[in-house]
Amino acid sequence: MSDVTVIGLGPMGSAMAATFLEAGHDVTVWNRTASKAGPLVAKGARQAERPATGELLVISQISYQALYDSLGEARLDGKTLVNLSSGTPAELREAARWVAERGGTLVTGGIMVPPPGIGQPGAYTFYSGPKEALDRHAATLEALSAVTYVGQDPGLAMMYYQAQLLMFWSALTSFMHAAALLETAGVRPTAFAPFARELHGELASDGPLGLGILGEELEAGVYPGEDNSLHMQAVGMGHVVETLRAAGLDTTVPEALHRLFARADAEGHGDEGLTAVVESIRQGTRPAP
Ligand code: NDP
Repeated sequence: MSDVTVIGLGPMGSAMAATFLEAGHDVTVWNRTASKAGPLVAKGARQAERPATGELLVISQISYQALYDSLGEARLDGKTLVNLSSGTPAELREAARWVAERGGTLVTGGIMVPPPGIGQPGAYTFYSGPKEALDRHAATLEALSAVTYVGQDPGLAMMYYQAQLLMFWSALTSFMHAAALLETAGVRPTAFAPFARELHGELASDGPLGLGILGEELEAGVYPGEDNSLHMQAVGMGHVVETLRAAGLDTTVPEALHRLFARADAEGHGDEGLTAVVESIRQGTRPAP
């Protein structure tokens, strides 16, 4: 029996299978489109006719629905499924029940690197679900990335993963907006990039803009704004939106930020700092004031 079966051979699953092979594991692969297994078979993988083959199944597909489509009515007795596909926390919890009904155990995960990062230093994966099942296979899974266990709730790995992706996509998109704005004045993105890097360095630092300090403010529920009030920043964000609009650029995301700042200001947080917007975020979406 092979050490691990990889289900799903998109860019991620293919890189995972190749990484397991490079680490010396005996690897079986399965994919809906069987032809994608070719390059991995050439590297020494076995191709399975059915996905529910072996004891450890590592899954990387577009969604959790793909898992149901792939496994169908197969029994999963004694098998551990480690699903590293994207989904919602509710879908992950439902999948844990679905796998258990068929006799298997589901460990959920969110892997925090793109295909070339798999197996490289710095790669890590958030895992949640039954810890003993994860521990049993941790030595194999460590070929892909560091194993970061976050808790028993099967939905938790995806919440960590999505929390990271939200920040990643927001930061990258704000860089696109910033670069596009300066481009309208003839500034090349590479000329602006050093300033963007400087800002991100500040966020990663222990300084007053550092995320560690902001986290402490959120936990304490104290948002100091004497030096730079939320009201001042809501007005400034309005100017950013006007500038982008005047430059003929898309303003969807900046407008949404401005609406959030203005709402927190209207809800009485104007004298506090920017972190006070968390109070409005916690209340859920509301119509703009
Ligand atoms: P995709 O998200 O495009 O997934 C492709 C895989 O899903 C293929 O194996 C495809 O099979 C399979 N699939 C799609 N629909 C079905 C279905 N109904 N039944 C069976 N199999 C199906 O590619 P990636 O490899 O990039 O991503 C895989 C997962 O990893 C995703 O959930 C993604 O969010 C996550 N991820 C991706 C990262 C990245 O940088 N690429 C980084 C971190 C996580 P077929 O070949 O037959 O079409």
